Amino acid sequence: MLRASQRLFLASRRGVSSTFQPHRLNSARTFSAEPINQDWAEAFREATEELQSDVGFQESAERLRNLCRTDLLRGTDLRDEPERFFEAHRILARHAVTHGPGFWIRFTVHYNLFAGTILAVGNEQQVNDLANFQAEGKLGCFSLTEKLAGVQSGLVVQTTIDYDQDKGTFNLNTPNEGARKNWISQGFTADKTVVLADLRVKGESKGPHAFVMDFRKDGKLVDGIIVDDMGKKTVGNDLDNAWIHFDNVELPKESMLSKYAHISEDGEYVLKSKVRPFDMIGQRLYTGRIAVGQAALEYRRQLFAQTKEYSDNKRTFAFDGEPVLSEIPQLEAIYQENEEKLAVLDKFVGDCEAALADCLRKDEPPSSQLVDAIATVKVKCVEESIDMCHRLKQEVGSFALMADSGFSTMDFLNCCKFAEGDSRILMSKLARDRIKAFSKDAKAGNPEEIALCKQLVAGMGEAVKGGKTQQQAWDGEWRTVYNLAEAVMARVQKEGV
Ligand SMILES: Cc1cc2nc3c(=O)[nH]c(=O)nc-3n(C[C@H](O)[C@H](O)[C@H](O)COP(=O)(O)OP(=O)(O)OC[C@H]3O[C@@H](n4cnc5c(N)ncnc54)[C@H](O)[C@@H]3O)c2cc1C
Repeated sequence: MLRASQRLFLASRRGVSSTFQPHRLNSARTFSAEPINQDWAEAFREATEELQSDVGFQESAERLRNLCRTDLLRGTDLRDEPERFFEAHRILARHAVTHGPGFWIRFTVHYNLFAGTILAVGNEQQVNDLANFQAEGKLGCFSLTEKLAGVQSGLVVQTTIDYDQDKGTFNLNTPNEGARKNWISQGFTADKTVVLADLRVKGESKGPHAFVMDFRKDGKLVDGIIVDDMGKKTVGNDLDNAWIHFDNVELPKESMLSKYAHISEDGEYVLKSKVRPFDMIGQRLYTGRIAVGQAALEYRRQLFAQTKEYSDNKRTFAFDGEPVLSEIPQLEAIYQENEEKLAVLDKFVGDCEAALADCLRKDEPPSSQLVDAIATVKVKCVEESIDMCHRLKQEVGSFALMADSGFSTMDFLNCCKFAEGDSRILMSKLARDRIKAFSKDAKAGNPEEIALCKQLVAGMGEAVKGGKTQQQAWDGEWRTVYNLAEAVMARVQKEGV
């Protein structure tokens, strides 16, 4: 059943004019290149207003199916209407304070990782299929992370997929326990999956490639797929997370996402351009990083707003006057600090979103400068939100203990920390890239970074002389590595997009 504002919006999609309706909740911020259609935003807000987390994962999945069927956000909007894609994530993130991370993760896994990967590396037919999945309310999961790989998912893909030229099919396998897909969201409910596996043609490895396949048919797992529950979590138990084992699962040739590479009639692997398909899959991580960064900010904005509402109304004793808790100096200061810091990050993440939206529309990869800015924005939004929310919790007394205060869902921010690029991994990468640049030109760049590079190189040199391997020497200097990353991020943020 469509609500009034959804009908209005869908009418406007069909060209019928509609009246602007201001939205009730104003926490989601918009800094996008293209202005958001407010009818659309209101319709999406209404469609998701009554989210609940005290439902089982089947019911939660059913809600996402229904949301998909409204057509408010299409699988292709990531390319055609990227601002809507980001705004939808922001609107949903406001609910995380009350309901935890479950539905937000479910949503982003379906729209960004599953549909987004098909959009990035699928052929025309595969992209067109997204509309059919949507109309039928079919949900997709994204099977990338493996047990051994952990946060380094993508770097290690042991799942194998062999092309059988006689049958014209693929054979998907989990060769060992470490290769099991791990933590896969919607693993108990998805109808489809995009799976990442090492493609082998005529016995030769071609590296990780993406395939879209049936996961369940009529609600039953496809033959050869085994799933089991990851177990009870601190938050987000309305989201099903599974490990997955593939045992000789046969896939049709058409399952290979083949915009950039395919298998020819005579069974040869053909790379259609210089672009490596896996690099294009990585593009989804950039949209994900911005969406996650913004979600962390929305969560924090909402938690601070709820807490302030409480402390504005909580009278405290004083010999002089009738103060409320919000006027206690340390609390007043943290509210002030939060507003100032949020404004800085809102602007930075908004600029990154606008720049990336431009790339998405043009189907171009982001520049290396934008990639670094997106990594920085993701780390800063998440880490600063963890710090601010934690500090707020220490200052509001018993309120923070109450189940409905919002503080019990703070592990949402932990999910943000390792999703779409763990903070530590992103920071290590920024430091590694900086050291590479330093090895080419030791004098270029800002003095703080140069000093840290020298310190790191000297420390590693000593360690190697003492018999350590390069990796051991790098690990031994881990504090300098992260200090260097901090310096790089400070510069990237200052330079802006
Ligand atoms: C709720 C939830 C939903 C998820 N959904 C999906 C999904 O749908 N699809 C999917 O493919 N994946 C999914 N994941 C997986 C997720 O993206 C991470 O890859 C996974 O959580 C890694 O967890 P881990 O504890 O095994 O990491 P580990 O590899 O054990 O890492 C633990 C911590 O150690 C540190 N660390 C590890 N290695 C290094 C290193 N080399 N250098 C520096 N620090 C390091 C990091 O701080 C890291 O946070 C999901 C995870 C969760 C929790």
